[in-house]
Amino acid sequence: MKRVYNFSAGPSILPESVLRRAADEMLDYQGSGQSVMEMSHRSKVYEGIINSAESLLREVMGIPDNYKVLFLQGGASSQFAMVPMNLMTKSGKADYVITGQWATKAYKEGARYGQANIVASSKDKTFSYIPKLDPATFTPDADYFHICLNNTIYGTKFHTLPETGNVPLVADVSSCILSEPIDVSKFGVLYAGAQKNMAPAGLTVVIIREDLIGHAMDITPTMFNYQTHADNGSMFNTPPCYTIYMAKLVLEWLKNDIGGLEEMKKINENKAKLLYDFLDQSKLFKGTVVPEDRSLMNVPFITGNEELDAKFVKEAAAADFVNLKGHRSVGGMRASIYNAMPTEGVEKLVAFMEQFEKENL
Ligand SMILES: *Cc1c(COP(=O)(O)O)cnc(C)c1O
Repeated sequence: MKRVYNFSAGPSILPESVLRRAADEMLDYQGSGQSVMEMSHRSKVYEGIINSAESLLREVMGIPDNYKVLFLQGGASSQFAMVPMNLMTKSGKADYVITGQWATKAYKEGARYGQANIVASSKDKTFSYIPKLDPATFTPDADYFHICLNNTIYGTKFHTLPETGNVPLVADVSSCILSEPIDVSKFGVLYAGAQKNMAPAGLTVVIIREDLIGHAMDITPTMFNYQTHADNGSMFNTPPCYTIYMAKLVLEWLKNDIGGLEEMKKINENKAKLLYDFLDQSKLFKGTVVPEDRSLMNVPFITGNEELDAKFVKEAAAADFVNLKGHRSVGGMRASIYNAMPTEGVEKLVAFMEQFEKENL
């Protein structure tokens, strides 16, 4: 069996030990005589799975007791609507920072339900930096302030959070959740599609402060109301059972094999440094993001020559470094180095890039 080094931005690499464990348990989950794929979501055995997924997430992320954890579907993209429908109900205003395509989509959806304001944008330079924020420009009575914490396509990250005072900070953390410790208490809502750093596709995790639940607009569909899911332990309807099980295995791996988010952060920082240090001294490749706003998870880079970029992507794939083609809006390359990418994968990629540089400069 051959396994490649998968640098996909999402769905993305999963820890090999997790995949092996899932394979071992595929036909008979812990003596139940059934696959997790087959069991009723209302059964005792499944209850154990979803409860431990939640308690592991709470433990690993240090989620305070006054926050609900919801296991939903519809992707992070559904949250672009669910957030305004549930939160934009007091002043009917919200602030957005435009740092890329996902943030733009969130803003556009928000603008359908109330007064969405753009407080800053980095569109002028293809989202290659995080705009400086001046709290004097924030809407004082906004119902929330929305950011995309890590910008998957452009490879930027907020290294400091906006000072929003009493306005709840809402963050899309799809591509950075579980990559390092995060102070949940600084946020009103965190949401993430699981397919980047947590599980296969199909699960959306929402972490929401309890006082923000229960104020949805009257037009809100039952399935789009946080209250529905909070009141029913994410079991109002059939949850994405198997993906929640996979998230549980990933969280066990994070806790037991890695040793938690502080340790995960050290590993991720080391991996990112290997790649950024190489890019910074390379005469062929260069990173596209200003150094102070670089992401730990998504590393876009270019040669400056589209043909050479294409040649690199092709030769890399032939050498088993796959999914390195950059997003169509940026071009070039992007290496997504999520939690499950081993350090060895990044070391080998850098060695491959060195060799390519020698041959093509
Ligand atoms: C991938 C991604 C999305 C879209 O997620 P879906 O689950 O496909 O809806 C949104 N925001 C960010 C930051 C992402 O990386």
